[in-house]
Amino acid sequence: MPVVKDVSRRRTVSELSAARQQRLGASLSFSYKSPLHIVSGSRQFLFDATGRRYLDCVNNVAHVGHSHPYVVRAASEQMARLNTNTRYLHELLIEYSERLTATLPESLSVAFFVNSGSEANELALRMARAHTKRNDVIVLDCAYHGNTSAMIDISPYKFDGPGGSGRPSWVHKVSMPDVYRGQHRGEDAGIRYADALTKAVQAADKNGGVAAFFCESAVSCGGQIILPRGYLSEAYATVRAAGGVCVADEVQTGFGRAGSHFWMFETQGVTPDIVTLGKPIGNGHPLGAVITTPEIAASFANGMEYFNTFGGNPVSCAVGLAVLDVIRDEELQQNALDVSEYLKRELRLLQDNHPLVGDVRGLGLFLGIELVRDRNTLEPAGREATQIVERMKERGILLSTDGPFHNVIKIKPPLVFSRKDADVLVSSLDSVLEACVTADT
Ligand code: PMP
Repeated sequence: MPVVKDVSRRRTVSELSAARQQRLGASLSFSYKSPLHIVSGSRQFLFDATGRRYLDCVNNVAHVGHSHPYVVRAASEQMARLNTNTRYLHELLIEYSERLTATLPESLSVAFFVNSGSEANELALRMARAHTKRNDVIVLDCAYHGNTSAMIDISPYKFDGPGGSGRPSWVHKVSMPDVYRGQHRGEDAGIRYADALTKAVQAADKNGGVAAFFCESAVSCGGQIILPRGYLSEAYATVRAAGGVCVADEVQTGFGRAGSHFWMFETQGVTPDIVTLGKPIGNGHPLGAVITTPEIAASFANGMEYFNTFGGNPVSCAVGLAVLDVIRDEELQQNALDVSEYLKRELRLLQDNHPLVGDVRGLGLFLGIELVRDRNTLEPAGREATQIVERMKERGILLSTDGPFHNVIKIKPPLVFSRKDADVLVSSLDSVLEACVTADT
């Protein structure tokens, strides 16, 4: 008799929805108008309770594939052997710290383990403040960095959104370096967008000075924005000259997703002072990490211990190591590059045929399709984007939208996504885009 019984048919979708409304907070939404009841996953596919298969084009947590057997084995073998906190010596903790820091520039050599992306950013903020002895933070407009109180405070995506209470005085926003919709285009757009950091630093100076600049290395919730060339190097230089530290939030973008590089910040030719990791790091196991320089780690060791009950436990380390093994052994970074180039070409052909497709952008398997009603005014096609995502789901393909106008379709699948999957995605999108136009005219 299995301990975890097969519960996939215990309740119907409507019974589960009703029970969920009763027992879980209403602040938690679900995807799609009629929710999916997903009961298993394998590689880039999810299966619902009726056995229907869905192609998952949006789950960047199941990085090496849903329920990857090698990762599952690592977790269960270590779980059967030992799971304790990090106040004991353990080989896996050291091995994982060594393997993880080996993927990063040499200066980023000290690791801290946590349980989520929010915790990683929260810890990064504490470190930046301890190191600089300042308080203020600069962020991109529309950025999201996590669900804790301090992370909501530095996330315009939340504090400017429904239920938000606005920008705290210690947080300074700079505009999204968006070369499609924003004010700067062309070769020097990166430098011109980064100019905004000068004003933000001055505002922080009036308040005691900037502690940190938090920035995703490619912006996810902001609408799958690829930073223009030169943006981060210029922005980092300004922040550092003012005495602040630069935090690269790689929670969504790391671990080979960029294709050309293991870390998205490398595509900008910079080395951050602190890097925060989450989502793909444990392929779904709750794990996160902060990697920083010995100098910043030393400033943080000010006498107050940093202890994290679950962070860096032997099971998490075994899982983290297994994820690194699979990325290497299955050459997933190379696959991301290969499939991305192919998929982008195909999506750009769609753009030629469908006026609704205003922009196709992305690096590796981190792509966005921005929908507009008019290519001159760039009027966002948010309603259409939602409709397309719903229709794609009916066809067995999972996508979602993001961006300030909810008009950007995100593509960020598990890295095992293949060219064949890309074909399935594009041909369905082609039909759905066609139907969307027909339905509206
Ligand atoms: N940073 C970024 C860029 C994110 O997208 C998220 C989650 N969407 C987080 C941090 C927070 O991660 P978690 O939900 O694991 O706390």
